[in-house]
Amino acid sequence: MYKAPVEEIAFTLKHVAGLSPALEGGHLGDLTDDLVDAILSEAGRFATEEVAPLAEIGDRQGARLVDGAVKMPDGWPALYKAWAEGGWNSLTAAPDFGGQGLPHMLHVAALEMWNSGSMAFAIGPTLTIGAIEALTTHGSGHLKTTYLPKMVSGEWMGSMNLTEPHAGSDLGVMKTRAERRDDGTYRLFGQKIFITYGEHDFTDNIVHLVLARLPDAPAGTRGISLFLVPKFLVAADGSLGPRNDAHCHSIEHKLGIHGSPTCTMIYGDGRFGDEPGAIGWLVGEENRGLACMFTMMNNARLAVGMQGVAIAEAATQKAIAYARERTQGKAPGWQGSGMSPIIEHPDVVRMLLTMKVLTQGARAITYACAHAVDMAHGEAAKHWAERASLLTPIAKSFATDAGVDVASLGVQVHGGMGFIEETGAARLYRDARIAPIYEGTNGIQAIDLVMRKLPLSDGGHVRGFIAELRGIAARARAANAPELGETGDRLEASIADLETATEWLLATLAEGRQAEALAGATPYQRLFGLVLTGAYLAKGALADGGDGRNGERAALCRFAAENIIGETAALRDRVTSGAASLAAARTVLG
Ligand SMILES: Cc1cc2nc3c(=O)[nH]c(=O)nc-3n(C[C@H](O)[C@H](O)[C@H](O)COP(=O)(O)OP(=O)(O)OC[C@H]3O[C@@H](n4cnc5c(N)ncnc54)[C@H](O)[C@@H]3O)c2cc1C
Repeated sequence: MYKAPVEEIAFTLKHVAGLSPALEGGHLGDLTDDLVDAILSEAGRFATEEVAPLAEIGDRQGARLVDGAVKMPDGWPALYKAWAEGGWNSLTAAPDFGGQGLPHMLHVAALEMWNSGSMAFAIGPTLTIGAIEALTTHGSGHLKTTYLPKMVSGEWMGSMNLTEPHAGSDLGVMKTRAERRDDGTYRLFGQKIFITYGEHDFTDNIVHLVLARLPDAPAGTRGISLFLVPKFLVAADGSLGPRNDAHCHSIEHKLGIHGSPTCTMIYGDGRFGDEPGAIGWLVGEENRGLACMFTMMNNARLAVGMQGVAIAEAATQKAIAYARERTQGKAPGWQGSGMSPIIEHPDVVRMLLTMKVLTQGARAITYACAHAVDMAHGEAAKHWAERASLLTPIAKSFATDAGVDVASLGVQVHGGMGFIEETGAARLYRDARIAPIYEGTNGIQAIDLVMRKLPLSDGGHVRGFIAELRGIAARARAANAPELGETGDRLEASIADLETATEWLLATLAEGRQAEALAGATPYQRLFGLVLTGAYLAKGALADGGDGRNGERAALCRFAAENIIGETAALRDRVTSGAASLAAARTVLG
């Protein structure tokens, strides 16, 4: 059973991602080290003791549609109630609406633990938190006072409605229609698919944020507006009024996250109300809906990255526990009587250490991204906003790929027991698979990284970041510590690969050869993530957490440097010389 790794999480936050210097520099208000520890420990307890025990029943029963209503798995509504009463919904929300205004770094750490407990459960509240953020930033005073207090307290949940059958990665072609009414409201008509927690029995009301197009809107993404559409209309005194003309038509049967209802939502077909049309209120300005969504997109992408870290952590714990117990064969040098535990076999050690490296690397990258988000105000706002922008696609893609890769290795470590459902290793693998797809596929993240993030400050930001990473490699070299092996040199070589690939991409983009640059976008994204993994593990190994685990950290860092990150050389070549063969082989596909 999953146990939240609170100490490792606290170490990574404080000594790798930048929480301690941010606290010392007074960048995080009244937050103290003790408060951080207390919040992490309680979030970890909740994830371990309350969420994780209900993951399996959620997977087995799934969300069920009964007479147009979604029934959640047994025990889940009570779990949600306990979660909301614990104040977890309000961690980052603004104090004006009952929130605690805490930094994103704490939020992502808590998100990791809840998602390790059950990703299918944690994704619902995560979307509500996204909706709270969008409303706080762009909602009118009326919308904020009517909806935010109840969303922040968890009394009502939210959902995000972007996707339509013809509009997934390309939202510019969406068709859902919004018509203006004389009283300042709008009526919405259309169908949205794949809407997470679009319907459920956790809360009395659900606040849908819906993208739609006005009749006179310009074509494409510049003609999309954002609307708030409640399931039940809300009276002036805050009580629930009549049902709005919005309902869940069906829910999907899917590979994983069975407890999370994935809904087809119908707006405005006349099922409820006097006249057809779901009543909605504009959020932000007309035709600026996608921009509103984008302000929260970074955090939503980071939140999905946390799902990858979460699954990787849970899968690693499960695999190590199994490998200690399962006995097969005799490992080289095994002195015990009978068969050795499989954890003694070098190939199993390789798998388990790879799982640990990818998990720790993904954790450090995502936390560093959250740190950048928290620092993006005041004097150095531009620098940190650029850092958050640059890190977001890497955090989302590297962590979610790690979730899938690590969960797959977890199945492998379990052998046949991993493929059957009994151990839970298979569930983690199935759950992990969606994260590289939603909230912008990892392919779309790679395009974002190459086309929009590398050119920030004319390439100055990424170059400055690479110089910082070189500083870590130099420190690893200077440490001259036998336990770090060749970490300094190997890391320096991988950073050189990153630099070569970065300069090639910047030059190729400057010459307008977009197709060539994009052919290597995903390998480049992976290359960046691996370099960051090596660098952040080294940073952790060089820091003293005061917990006596420096030897372990150095050993894992050395394994990463000497066994994992060398892949960067091949990735560099794919970026700088893979485009021609890719283009030439296109004909193979017909
Ligand atoms: C379980 C689940 C939950 C979801 N929850 C929500 C939700 O709550 N709200 C919501 O609005 N949506 C939700 N989605 C939808 C999800 O965000 C989309 O599935 C995702 O954005 C991808 O869109 P698509 O499925 O149409 O794939 P497509 O856009 O058709 O993509 C198919 C493939 O083509 C690639 N591709 C597409 N365009 C390009 C391009 N320009 N360049 C390069 N490659 C490209 C993609 O990377 C992908 O590999 C959910 C989906 C699932 C399965």
